[in-house]
Amino acid sequence: MTLILTDVTLTYPDGDARLTALDRVSLEVPAGSLTAVVGPSGSGKSSLLAVAATLVTPDRGQVVVAGTDTAALGRAEQAALRRERVGIVFQQPNLLPSLTAAEQLQAMAHLSGRPVRAARGRALELLDAVGLADKADRRPHQLSGGQRQRVNIARALMNEPAVLLVDEPTSALDHERGAAVLDLLIGLTRTRSTATVMVTHDRAHLDRVDATAAMEDGRLTALART
Ligand code: ADP
Ligand code: MG
Repeated sequence: MTLILTDVTLTYPDGDARLTALDRVSLEVPAGSLTAVVGPSGSGKSSLLAVAATLVTPDRGQVVVAGTDTAALGRAEQAALRRERVGIVFQQPNLLPSLTAAEQLQAMAHLSGRPVRAARGRALELLDAVGLADKADRRPHQLSGGQRQRVNIARALMNEPAVLLVDEPTSALDHERGAAVLDLLIGLTRTRSTATVMVTHDRAHLDRVDATAAMEDGRLTALART
């Protein structure tokens, strides 16, 4: 298993009390498979991704990413694990306005201290894999919303992550483009062997994912494998 959450509980301060965002959540995601996470707003979906990404430390429970128990790591080691082993696709692409599509990806190599020039080949290969081979030199304002989301996804794959975490990638897209992005994510999950978790509140097309986890009030209430 590439991503393992075991009995994870996460609380946030809430006045004098604590709000339970995740309540004893356990989830295992094998390499090369995609688990969708569904549930109403506020049910803990983004919190689950944040914990899996080591962006927040749970109060209790264990998070194992690519064989590494994250609790054993210091902040700097967690940051390195995140950079090297985890790809994160947020809802909003957050592309840098002055960089071309290829440069957005090359910048990831720079952040990891890898040679940026050598990264161009890999950037172009990934842009090709997301159907943007001919858009490599465009800046964000020269791309459609769907194309920007594809750049966002390609960028998350730049450092060959073992775990790919995607938060509502289709929410800003129409039905057809949303389906195409899901197809793309499933294909990339298979070819790049990532353990992928995708939050969505679009229940369409969920028959094509490997498993669906339902969240409610911080609890994982159902896990259906498809
Ligand atoms: P979802 O993504 O399913 O909408 P979230 O994981 O964002 O749900 O939120 C789960 C619960 O935790 C909500 O009640 C939300 O208000 C709360 N929450 C999320 N992030 C924070 C935070 N940084 N500080 C305090 N409460 C938060
Ligand atoms: Mg959310």
